[in-house]
Amino acid sequence: MKNPTDNPVARSLETIPATGRRRFIVVSSEDVEEMRHIVLEDVLQKHGRKILCWDHPVSQDVRRVAGRIISQNGLGYIEGQRRGTDAQDQDSKPWNIIVIDDEADVDAFTLSGRVILISTGILPVTRDEAGLAALLAHEISHGALRHPEESLSCLMFIYPFRCFLRLLRRDTRFLELVRLSLEAPHSRMLESEADMYALRLLRGAGYEGAALPRFLADLAETDKESDSYKIPAFLRSHPPLWKRIKDLEARLSSDHTLIGALSHVR
Ligand SMILES: [Zn+2]
Repeated sequence: MKNPTDNPVARSLETIPATGRRRFIVVSSEDVEEMRHIVLEDVLQKHGRKILCWDHPVSQDVRRVAGRIISQNGLGYIEGQRRGTDAQDQDSKPWNIIVIDDEADVDAFTLSGRVILISTGILPVTRDEAGLAALLAHEISHGALRHPEESLSCLMFIYPFRCFLRLLRRDTRFLELVRLSLEAPHSRMLESEADMYALRLLRGAGYEGAALPRFLADLAETDKESDSYKIPAFLRSHPPLWKRIKDLEARLSSDHTLIGALSHVR
């Protein structure tokens, strides 16, 4: 009888231990470590002088809060920061938290290989340490749950379909619409999963979970005039902010252990 591990599709199916969700992922842990170096080189080339030095006060602040969330949840360590001496720490994974000096860009995102980019434009929206922790916990969730690698794996199915459509129809706007309508539902699901997992990371690091919906409400105020509001809901890569806030508040009110953490602890 054929061993299921001989089947590449069966081998690529896994259950995420943290959430219990089944998924298809073809990027192995070894691939991630290789991609990590390529991603970092790419970020350096693209943003160059706009990257704040690791010892800049803003960068230090962001890295300190991120480091606390990562280490206290046993997810690894921030490259360049001191880590513990026990064997478990030595085996743990490095993360890169990169702050881009761009006041006009209200954004943060996570790339393959646990590389997180934060633009300085989003920092005023976080207001305080609890808000910054909320933003970082969401991004760290994407990295810890390997969402960038999962999205890359999904492209394996979407790309041949797009190529086939390209042969039938050359209208680039139509192709873009197809791409968005195929990718957006999966992307929205990953965003919701990152929000829920972020609540656990915040609790693990001693921050209050309620800071996340509060931060998203502040972001909604900033985001009102942006172009994302003009995109129909089914084509958006993120669920509407009001829905994310509502879902988070529902989770917080059904699980009081997520609210009761300390905040603003230095
Ligand atoms: Zn996200």
